[in-house]
Amino acid sequence: MWESASVLTFVSIIECRHRLQATIQLMGEFDLIARFFTRPAKNAVLGVGDDCALLPGNAAMQCAVSCDMLVEGRHFLSTVAPERLGHKALAVNLSDLAACGAKPRAFLLALAMPRVDEVFLQGFSNGLFALADEHGIDLVGGDTTAGPLNICITVLGDVPQGAAFLRSGASVGDDVYVSGNLGDARLALEVFRGALALEPEAFEAVRRAMEMPQPRNVLALKLRGLISSAIDVSDGFLGDFTYVLRRSSVGATINVDVLPRSAVLAQRSADLQRLCTLAGGDDYELVFTAPLQHRTAIAVASMQSGVPVTCVGCIEAKAGLRLIDKQGHAVDQKFASFDHFKS
Ligand code: ADP
Ligand code: MG
Repeated sequence: MWESASVLTFVSIIECRHRLQATIQLMGEFDLIARFFTRPAKNAVLGVGDDCALLPGNAAMQCAVSCDMLVEGRHFLSTVAPERLGHKALAVNLSDLAACGAKPRAFLLALAMPRVDEVFLQGFSNGLFALADEHGIDLVGGDTTAGPLNICITVLGDVPQGAAFLRSGASVGDDVYVSGNLGDARLALEVFRGALALEPEAFEAVRRAMEMPQPRNVLALKLRGLISSAIDVSDGFLGDFTYVLRRSSVGATINVDVLPRSAVLAQRSADLQRLCTLAGGDDYELVFTAPLQHRTAIAVASMQSGVPVTCVGCIEAKAGLRLIDKQGHAVDQKFASFDHFKS
């Protein structure tokens, strides 16, 4: 009796597996788009399903557009949970809208993957839409194809005419600010690389920073009208901030000891702290400049958005980036930012 029951159960499990396999094979491009990436549009006139999406026009606004690609093995490890990957793919793009002061509106998803993996797609779309819902934005279209796992998202946002934060706007005398903390994602990467070990709780915290960065869009909108330039840190503070200095034809002095960092990173060696904060990469924090008279308003924007901001230096006329420590001594610039074609 027991035996036949368990044989039956076994047979029906196999049958189920076969049926599932058949659905996976049958599920083509259009079924998977319909199942995992189509939802009623909230703000778009027309979302997924036609040749183009249609968004309402608005003459008072400029449309900010940006895209970022995530490639397996280069931008993320195969160990990342699909939910977190979905979150991160959108987060890194939202971070670009934050860096230009645009309000997120919609996004498109171009996805290549080796095969239709329903578990992956369900997790990925859950993570993606959870963040999309947080920001009230629609997925309005994309493209889907077979190929090595590769995710490319294009985001669209609105910014009032002439109000976008540009890299070219920093002026002599401005303060330099950083949002949140720098360096945790790099610390996590060093653990994955086997270069160091962390206690499980500390590792989970920094791993979360690496796999689920929080784009600073709420803060960015509150900074409108207060700041002179901005950039989001994706390849490391030193390299990314240097773009601002070059574009603005100015220089700066930065106090490396006040660069904001987590309690976990603050417990590591001084050298590792410097490497992670100055040249970590994958931070997705905002670095921005602002005239002194906006110090109080910036503190209020920080409080209202729940995102700490730290003043880390000032803009100067002399070209180049000078690093000092808390005693005012010059610090060597021995760290380079991440470069995909050099690393
Ligand atoms: P076309 O070949 O006309 O460009 P597709 O067959 O590629 O159209 O896509 C059909 C519809 O599904 C389009 O509206 C497209 O924007 C949308 N789409 C395709 N892939 C995705 C995806 N990964 N996420 C969201 N929408 C998608
Ligand atoms: Mg297409």
